[in-house]
Amino acid sequence: SPLALGDTVHDKQIIVCIRKRPLSKKEEAKKEVDVITCPAKDTIIMHECKTKVDLTKYLENQSFRFDYAFDEDATNEMVYKFTAQPLIQTIFDGGMATCFAYGQTGSGKTHTMGGNFNGKNQDVGTGIYALAARDIFKFLLKPKYKKDGLLVRASFFEIYSGKVFDLLNKKKKLRILEDGEAQVVVCDLQEREVKSVEDVMGLIQAGNLVRTSGQTAANQHSSRSHAVFQITLRTKTGQVHGKFSFIDLAGNERGVDTMSTNRQTRLEGAEINKSLLALKECIRALARRGAHLPFRASKLTQVLRDSFIGHNSKTCMIAMISPGLGCSEHSLNTLRYANRVKEL
Ligand code: ADP
Ligand code: MG
Repeated sequence: SPLALGDTVHDKQIIVCIRKRPLSKKEEAKKEVDVITCPAKDTIIMHECKTKVDLTKYLENQSFRFDYAFDEDATNEMVYKFTAQPLIQTIFDGGMATCFAYGQTGSGKTHTMGGNFNGKNQDVGTGIYALAARDIFKFLLKPKYKKDGLLVRASFFEIYSGKVFDLLNKKKKLRILEDGEAQVVVCDLQEREVKSVEDVMGLIQAGNLVRTSGQTAANQHSSRSHAVFQITLRTKTGQVHGKFSFIDLAGNERGVDTMSTNRQTRLEGAEINKSLLALKECIRALARRGAHLPFRASKLTQVLRDSFIGHNSKTCMIAMISPGLGCSEHSLNTLRYANRVKEL
């Protein structure tokens, strides 16, 4: 693997990396061509097949650099190590951390965040949510933190068509309120105390079930909604000490839905477009202190506002790529978006 153990942990405010998934069995059976390579640990190349006027074919290579580029051999654990894991320290230091999974539907967002799909169900222990929970409980045992008696709470909600639904409370629709201090509160959001990784995994499983209940195809629904899983550290008196938010974003290809003839589909597409654009601007503003934060532009950025404005806020984005030639247009969009988030 190009990612040697012992690489230094960065101290950057924003980490942007790319993860390419392997071709699926189905794609291999269809002889789908893999057009993505990662020749170095921070470089990803898309090989586009082009045709000249005389009809001869040639490859055009578009190269992008990120903090890390993970190829199909990378495990969730490895991706976690270089993205969310360094931010565990941030929340114990009293800061805010966020980790976004961005990409086209089917590119591996839920695999990375929620865990491997073993053919029947999601193996939640292998996802970034659970890996982070594991480390949070490890940190709590350190003498330095043990004496603080911090409490660990988890919440899980989704944003669908600009509305917020609690996945730990039967998909109850929640209101967002902004108080005088411009603090954003998700009213009535369930926050469950968790004491072990198993507790966290139980909540993820329960939330996932609620999320997809009544849906014919899980990916149909999840491609149109953002799932937000949060782990909050609270002091004994209930104040927020630090918070880690993990977001499995709606599929970025839904932007084309703005052309749909179906009104509901069109509105959903427009909302997704709006939120992903606002997210990009908010992350960019995060690195430029004092820059305008357009967090009000979408529900997603609104509910994540406290994570963007904190004095100690850190973010990582994992942009997922499907390797197939048939996905290259969406993959290029993903690479360009991630590139914009990274550029400062
Ligand atoms: P998304 O959430 O972006 O729509 P999924 O996470 O559901 O995509 O992934 C689509 C399919 O690809 C799933 O069957 C998943 O198990 C598989 N997959 C995704 N990433 C990987 C990976 N890195 N290794 C193996 N299989 C993967
Ligand atoms: Mg998904």
